[in-house]
Amino acid sequence: SMASPALLMRVVASAYSVAEKAATIVRNVMSAGDLGIVEKAGPNDLQTKADRLVQMSICASLARKFPKVTIIGEEELSTDDVTEELIEYGHCEEILKKPCPAQYTGIKEEELVIWVDPLDGTKEYTEGLLDHVTVLIGIAYGGKAIAGVINQPYYNYEAGADAVLGRTIWGVLGIGAFGFQLTEAPAGKHIIITTRSHSSTLVNDCISALNPDTVIRVGGAGNKIIQLIEGKASAYVFASPGCKKWDTCAPEAILHAVGGKITDIRGNSFQYNKEVKHMNSAGVLATLRNYDYYASRIPNTVKQSLVP
Ligand code: AMP
Ligand code: MG
Ligand code: MG
Repeated sequence: SMASPALLMRVVASAYSVAEKAATIVRNVMSAGDLGIVEKAGPNDLQTKADRLVQMSICASLARKFPKVTIIGEEELSTDDVTEELIEYGHCEEILKKPCPAQYTGIKEEELVIWVDPLDGTKEYTEGLLDHVTVLIGIAYGGKAIAGVINQPYYNYEAGADAVLGRTIWGVLGIGAFGFQLTEAPAGKHIIITTRSHSSTLVNDCISALNPDTVIRVGGAGNKIIQLIEGKASAYVFASPGCKKWDTCAPEAILHAVGGKITDIRGNSFQYNKEVKHMNSAGVLATLRNYDYYASRIPNTVKQSLVP
């Protein structure tokens, strides 16, 4: 039809291109060699030049196109004096060709909240664990994560010079998710994926209670959700505060778009309206399949230790 695409699809199509520019910035900062590391709350809570530049690029680019949308980014930075070279004007035509689900066609700019993690897995980025890093742009409406873009700037970086470096995964509830191969985890095995750099006794006690066959410890909330949808892990379990709304919004939309489930450790769904507290204080439990199996085995003592 000749009708102009729905706002939601235009936002997702733009977020796709904005995330690709972000990935270029992430790679360029690393190859230039000066990461400009700043400690935020402490040595396990870092910010680099890439976190700063990407946040400015994403927030300023989306704000120019969609001035009435609420955009909440992880880093506390002003986008007032953002340089022109950081602005992305493009969008993904493929996404604009998909019909918007009927329940989202009437959405107005004022009703959307975009949660931005410019660089998820910063600690791992500074340590050279480059494929742990993702750029996360999550889109919420009515308090729910409904669409998201995850860019993995260093996907394939160990696959040789012929391999295409980096990829962009996107999804919308009611449409599905694209840019990866949906794969089931091995049947009958309990492969738990969790934090690498933010462990605690509670985090480890909770995992032990699930009798895992394997525990994978890697950085990044985005990275862990990718491993769930690609069948590398059966459950993402993090019994600790620390993850924020910008860590879970884009991953949640993509996971839910393919039939998975993410909640806090107590089974409560996350809210993404603009007034909400940023911290996911009661941790994370996510699966592509068999959510109830893992949820039913989280010890009550663990649940009681985490207050939403
Ligand atoms: P991780 O699985 O440790 O990579 O954590 C996923 C996301 O939550 C990353 O953005 C981390 O920076 C954040 N995060 C988790 N725990 C903490 C913490 N204790 N302090 C600061 N950030 C955290
Ligand atoms: Mg993060
Ligand atoms: Mg971050």
